[in-house]
Amino acid sequence: MPEIYDLHCHSTASDGALSPTELVQRAQCKGVTALALTDHDTTAGLAEAAQAASEIGLRFIPGIELSALHANQCLHIVGLNIDPLNPVLLAGIAKQHAIRESRARKIADKLQKKGIEGVYEAIREKSGDGEITRSHFADFLYQHGIVTSQQDAFDRYLSKGKPAYVPTQWAALEEVVHWIQAAGGVAVMAHPLRYNLSQKWMNRALAAFKTAGGQGIEVVTSRISADEIRFSQQCCQRHQLHASVGSDFHTPDNQWVELGRFPPLPSDVKPVWTLF
Ligand code: AMP
Ligand code: MN
Ligand code: MN
Ligand code: MN
Repeated sequence: MPEIYDLHCHSTASDGALSPTELVQRAQCKGVTALALTDHDTTAGLAEAAQAASEIGLRFIPGIELSALHANQCLHIVGLNIDPLNPVLLAGIAKQHAIRESRARKIADKLQKKGIEGVYEAIREKSGDGEITRSHFADFLYQHGIVTSQQDAFDRYLSKGKPAYVPTQWAALEEVVHWIQAAGGVAVMAHPLRYNLSQKWMNRALAAFKTAGGQGIEVVTSRISADEIRFSQQCCQRHQLHASVGSDFHTPDNQWVELGRFPPLPSDVKPVWTLF
C-alpha cells in the first residue's frame, strides 16, 4: 500500500484546535498514513504526537513551521524530519519564542488603544504554554463580537497596514534553514502562493532559499487549483527543488481544509519524502 502523506498541520502547541493526540487520530480517520506535525516555531507537540502515532501504527515525521524574513517579506519554512532535541534548533526556537511573546504584547497594546482590553492575558490563559499567533487574536476578536469572522479580523485589524499590525523581525531565511539542517531536517518553502509575490520576487526568494540549503517547496496544499499546482511545479523545476504536500490543517471547523484532503502530486516532480 502506498503511503498517504500530509506534511503540514497544526495542533494546540500553536494555533491548531486539536491536541497532538487528537490530530494524529483524526489524520488516521481521514486516511493519512504518514503525518508531519508542523506547529508555528515550536516542537512542543511532537513528543505527544509521536507517542500517539506509534500507538495506532501511523508513521510520524517530526516537523516545524518557522517564520523567516527575506527581503522584508515573512516567509514560512517547514522543517521536516527534524531532531526536536537538536541544540541549534532549540536555540533558534527560543529566539522565535521571545519574538512571538514581545509581538503578542505589542499587538495587545495596539488593540488596547482601540479600546479592546485584556487581550494578551485572555489569549495566554487560553493557549496555555502554546505559541501565540495572530490566529489567536483573530479568534478573540471574533468571539467577542468585534469582527464577523477570522478573515474580517485580519482585514480590519491584523494584516499589514491595519491598526494592530506589528512589523516583526523574524530570523533571516538563511538562519532558519541552517537551524533545520543542523537538526538533520529538510527545509521546505510553505504555501508559495500565499505571499502574493510577483514571479520575479518569487524566483529571487527561491534562489536565496536554495542557496541557503533549502530542498523543497509545497506543490500541493488545500484548496489549490490546477493552475496553482502548475506554478509551483515550475518553481520545482526551475530551482531544482523537491515537492511537498500538506493540508495546513488547523481546525475541524474549517470545512474547506481537512487532513489528507488535497489533489495528488503531479507525476513529474520528485517527492520530498524520498529525502527522508
Ligand atoms: P503569525 O505567524 O502569528 O503571523 O500568524 C499566522 C497565522 O495566522 C497563519 O498560520 C494562519 O493560521 C493565520 N492567518 C494568517 N493570515 C490569515 C488570514 N488572512 N485569514 C485567516 N487566517 C490567517
Ligand atoms: Mn497558523
Ligand atoms: Mn504558514
Ligand atoms: Mn501552517
